[in-house]
Amino acid sequence: MKGNLIIISSPSGGGKGTLIKEVRGMLPDLGYSCSHTTRPKRFGEEEGREYFFISHDEFEQRIEACDFLEYANVHGNLYGTSLAESRKVFSAGRDLIVEVDVQGALQMMAKPELDGARISIFILPPSFEVLRARLTARNTEDEAGLRTRLKNSFDEVMKYPSFDYVIVNEDLSTAARQIASIICAERQSTDRQTSAIQGILDSFDASRHLFEGD
Ligand code: 5GP
Repeated sequence: MKGNLIIISSPSGGGKGTLIKEVRGMLPDLGYSCSHTTRPKRFGEEEGREYFFISHDEFEQRIEACDFLEYANVHGNLYGTSLAESRKVFSAGRDLIVEVDVQGALQMMAKPELDGARISIFILPPSFEVLRARLTARNTEDEAGLRTRLKNSFDEVMKYPSFDYVIVNEDLSTAARQIASIICAERQSTDRQTSAIQGILDSFDASRHLFEGD
């Protein structure tokens, strides 16, 4: 059975990290791959939980070694999704949920290395003002970092038509439920069910003789 790749993207401050945590609570079998970044660790962040924090040189070496399913320079730092980690989740037949910026999402949609379906979900803040208020309240960036993230959000939101689904993140639990519903619906797709239902179809085949001659 192939797992689906669930791509969650939004401008910075769109709430994808919090939403993914919530969705993973609802669907504990969802696989998750911790990204690598060259961004300095923020207060309270832990190695291997938010990110693997690596140097620019190590990131470059990993790019050379084709270790990333996708990577991008986001607001001045490098971020990448590990190919090996992703394959581990898929080979167990599980869905993988990833949090990436818009450039990473577009790369993943175009990747030939993965067999499973790719489902892309764009998280839109209810308005620019709400995005600005959330990013400011998060208090993780200095003034320049905040301005970069807000400035980049204009182009990022305009990329929404490239995604399969759009969710407005007005209320956290509503948005999380909407994401979980999409994942559950995709799991029931005919393509995904084909091997899972083989035993059921076989039982019908095995009983066909009961009606031979009718
Ligand atoms: P932050 O520095 O706020 O943790 O993340 C900055 C941006 O990078 C966010 O939009 C976040 O979703 C994105 N990001 C996190 N991990 C990855 C990744 O592995 N690849 C890409 N392309 N973007 C990522």
